[in-house]
Amino acid sequence: MNLRDTIRDIKDFPKKGIVFKDITTLLKDPVAFRQALDEMTDVVRGQKIDIVVGIESRGFIFGAPLADRLGSGFVPARKLGKLPDETIQEEYALEYGTNTIEMHRDAIQPGMRVLIADDLLATGGTVEATAKLVESLGGEIAGLVFLIELKFLNGRSRLTRYPVTALIEY
Ligand code: AMP
Repeated sequence: MNLRDTIRDIKDFPKKGIVFKDITTLLKDPVAFRQALDEMTDVVRGQKIDIVVGIESRGFIFGAPLADRLGSGFVPARKLGKLPDETIQEEYALEYGTNTIEMHRDAIQPGMRVLIADDLLATGGTVEATAKLVESLGGEIAGLVFLIELKFLNGRSRLTRYPVTALIEY
């Protein structure tokens, strides 16, 4: 199956000028969803992955089943104020203003091999901040995996230190 055919474009969402990639149409298709997880699993086949980090919130949808398949743990990277215990934080720039992403301070032990998963790579700001959190805890980044990459935003250029894989490119 061509996964691209299961992604829906929504024009001017959440604001004018943005073409939002709606993945709910992929998720509700059991064959497409399984294929996406199969392809993501293949990215790190043969490697030892201790932890999959999923980025809130659509990264959880892929990250958690991926962790289960890989026999690794799952760690959420969350928006500010959602995690209950002691956290570390990283701020990153948005088009207007900033966002902050957090992880629990005890989520990753030094030397652990970590795969970061999210639904979509746009400018790369979110995943770069998440990768910094993982590294500040001593984690080693085995890779960054996405369902979709918006190539024209050139997010990869800030992620050259990491192996980056996206299943679908626009
Ligand atoms: P960025 O930090 O710019 O790489 O943005 C990545 C995050 O924003 C991802 O978690 C996506 O879920 C979301 N995102 C950005 N642009 C889009 C888009 N055009 N369609 C759907 N989600 C998007």
